[in-house]
Amino acid sequence: MNALPNEYVRRTSWRLLLRILPAIGVGVLWFYGQHGAAMALFATVFCTIGYLTLSPTTRLLGPVTTHWQGDAMLLTLDDGPHPDTTPALLDLLDRHGVKAVFFVIGDRVKQWPELAREIVRRGHTIGNHSQTHPSGRFWILGPRGTWREAAGCQQTLREITGESPQWFRAPVGHYNTFTHPALDELGLRLMSWSCRGFDTVDPDAPRVLRRMASNVKPGAIVLLHEAIPTSVELVEGILELARAKGLRWADPKAV
Ligand SMILES: [Zn+2]
Repeated sequence: MNALPNEYVRRTSWRLLLRILPAIGVGVLWFYGQHGAAMALFATVFCTIGYLTLSPTTRLLGPVTTHWQGDAMLLTLDDGPHPDTTPALLDLLDRHGVKAVFFVIGDRVKQWPELAREIVRRGHTIGNHSQTHPSGRFWILGPRGTWREAAGCQQTLREITGESPQWFRAPVGHYNTFTHPALDELGLRLMSWSCRGFDTVDPDAPRVLRRMASNVKPGAIVLLHEAIPTSVELVEGILELARAKGLRWADPKAV
């Protein structure tokens, strides 16, 4: 885990340079009294980096899956496993005959390995959601930190569940120029979403579902979270919304 793969180092080195060169440019312009130009360059670089890294659906940094193929929708559940929600969600999904992608956090899988194995036993798909879920920092991590998060979770999941995930979801959907080289090296593909209701910040389940309703449509990738008090109510609600619209759910294994 400590040694970075050569190809990854090669691909991330020039990207590191792209981070450093604009900063040097701003410094040089400022030094020579070109304060207007320095500020313009700073604002341009700042806005570009901000857009690229904070947009969960941008393809400018590499491929990202935002919609599922065909008419069926895909249910994705982030941030598990967790004893408060995983067992109840597994039972609920069994009752409805729905399969989901559980984007799990490596550290939580280590804490509750039996829950992760149960997700696999029930026929669901395990996805890589980083080792420690550094919500506010993932997008500013350098090559080594990015590798540690993605490869660390992949190794944890392989050791505990026997599965090697093929999907990665970035913590809070933010990624940067080092993310795709790491995913390519690990055989992972980046998955975002097309339907979310900000369930981690809004404790009012009916309001979250109202926010999601217009995006419950063919091919939608639905994002909901584990380990919050409304997890089960929201999954029940989204299943009901899909049923009312006559939409069906995809089996993520049938890619
Ligand atoms: Zn998350």
